Amino acid sequence: MKISKNFELEEFWKSPTASKYGIDNTPSEVAQVHITKVITEVMQPIRDLLGVPLIINSGYRCPSLNVKVKGAATSKHLQGLACDFTLGDRVRNEAAFKKIEAMGLKFDQLIDEYDYTWIHVGISTTPYRQQILHLK
Ligand SMILES: [Zn+2]
Repeated sequence: MKISKNFELEEFWKSPTASKYGIDNTPSEVAQVHITKVITEVMQPIRDLLGVPLIINSGYRCPSLNVKVKGAATSKHLQGLACDFTLGDRVRNEAAFKKIEAMGLKFDQLIDEYDYTWIHVGISTTPYRQQILHLK
């Protein structure tokens, strides 16, 4: 289902890892509502800002998939409240991260994961923290 100009809901739970291990990564209705908010509140504004396609590495993760990818037990991906994406390489991800930091977007967390290997952006069901982190 198309949610915004550039994003479809299903893109946020399709997972090669889930397929490989036969994991059904279909989110609950609540998680689908969260994913819709991730698209409209952060992903589409970021896509509009950057003007280039964003490759989604990981959106929603069911508990089994989260274990497989060694996600944190409290990961926002478990609730459909976060998305990991890349523009294709670290150089472009770093430049994008700086533009996102400067755009005045409301988010819970914006994380540079492993020297810009990918970017994590998340929202929350509690007040957004506007937290910016760099993980090495
Ligand atoms: Zn993430």
